[in-house]
Amino acid sequence: MNCQYIKRVVFLIDVLIIGGGPCGLAAAIACEEKGFSTIIIEKENIVHSIHRYPTHQTFFSTSERLEIGGVPFIVEERKPHRNQALVYYRSVAKRKGLSIRAFEKVLNIDREVNGTFTVYTTKEELKANYVIVATGYYDSPNMMGIPGEDHSRVMHYFKEAHPYFDHHVVVIGGKNSAVDAVLELEKAGAHVTMLYRGADYSPSVKSWILPELVSLVRNEKVKLVFNATINEITDTHVVYETEKEQHQERADFVFAMTGYHPDHTFIRGLGVLVDEATGKPHYHQETMETNIPGLFVAGVIAAGNNANEIFIENGREHGSLIANAIANR
Ligand code: FAD
Ligand code: NAP
Repeated sequence: MNCQYIKRVVFLIDVLIIGGGPCGLAAAIACEEKGFSTIIIEKENIVHSIHRYPTHQTFFSTSERLEIGGVPFIVEERKPHRNQALVYYRSVAKRKGLSIRAFEKVLNIDREVNGTFTVYTTKEELKANYVIVATGYYDSPNMMGIPGEDHSRVMHYFKEAHPYFDHHVVVIGGKNSAVDAVLELEKAGAHVTMLYRGADYSPSVKSWILPELVSLVRNEKVKLVFNATINEITDTHVVYETEKEQHQERADFVFAMTGYHPDHTFIRGLGVLVDEATGKPHYHQETMETNIPGLFVAGVIAAGNNANEIFIENGREHGSLIANAIANR
């Protein structure tokens, strides 16, 4: 009798969180503060998406808007750099004593008849009363579906400009990742062409980086082509068209900064409804609970395919909504 009780306490977690990004960490802290036991399962290590950002990335948010769990994020600069955020989130995880299982990937989830969940990972099987899916979108780049896109010279993540010095680089896309990459590449002496499908500069580009791009284009330091539809990437060129005219641009390397989208495999498998047009899962705005009772979403996965709707700034609030909803049961 006693033994069975102990076994149940050890293996039935109150809230299991999939993904140790800023929003998954914030959700774990909010649930712990309500007295629930939590476990975060993270396939790499915490805040892996931030680790994967360009090495010298500066956030567009001020540091206090990236804070989680009420832990101050103080930096001398107004806007923190990637490295400072990595230090900050590591220290929050440590200070809050979060239970994090790193380098363990969630492969599947089942909902049992009694309403609890069985979560299958690369290491074992875990039982939880509630599951929060906070897997972000950064693992799945938007593909253009054109020949040559799978070549190793074509990349969807930009890290550093140095390797591209004195080489011809084509950057595809016209929002913040594309513009950041263009500015760094040009500074490092790459010959940069930017191919954008839009008819003008995107209004999503942050106001403090746009003037530098405009100036580089005006001074012919960067070639920018609007209304460019990409058709193919060959061993040496990017083939594209503008108003029915075919062109090709020399490309030793290509950065296809075409954005990212969430992977809905788990939640679809459990029966969560996903809007086909927007990629948005069905969930209640005030609780973040999906149409599957006990299954919640947190962070950018809730935004669907629109990468410019939920950020750390607002996704960090999802955890409190979820913790309140669970506490009110
Ligand atoms: P993520 O941070 O993507 O975390 C998801 C985690 O889930 C990852 O660690 C991943 O490894 C893990 N995971 C995925 N699948 C599994 C699985 N099957 N099993 C276990 N773990 C899994 N936002 C701002 O608010 N301000 C900014 O200034 C800002 N700057 C940005 C700069 C760049 C270059 C980029 C790309 C984004 C920026 N963002 C910014 C957006 C911000 O990064 C995202 O909004 C944020 O990372 C979302 O947090 P998340 O916890 O929802 O997802
Ligand atoms: P994004 O905002 O989704 O932009 C993707 C770009 O690629 C858009 O210009 C889009 O065109 C284009 N595109 C998409 N699919 C395409 C296709 N099939 N063919 C050709 N072009 C295509 O992605 P992102 O710039 O990587 O940004 C992702 C997230 O990171 C956003 O939340 C952003 O705010 C954030 N970010 C922040 C910073 C910062 O803090 N400094 C820097 C970079 C990124 P349209 O314009 O026509 O849609």
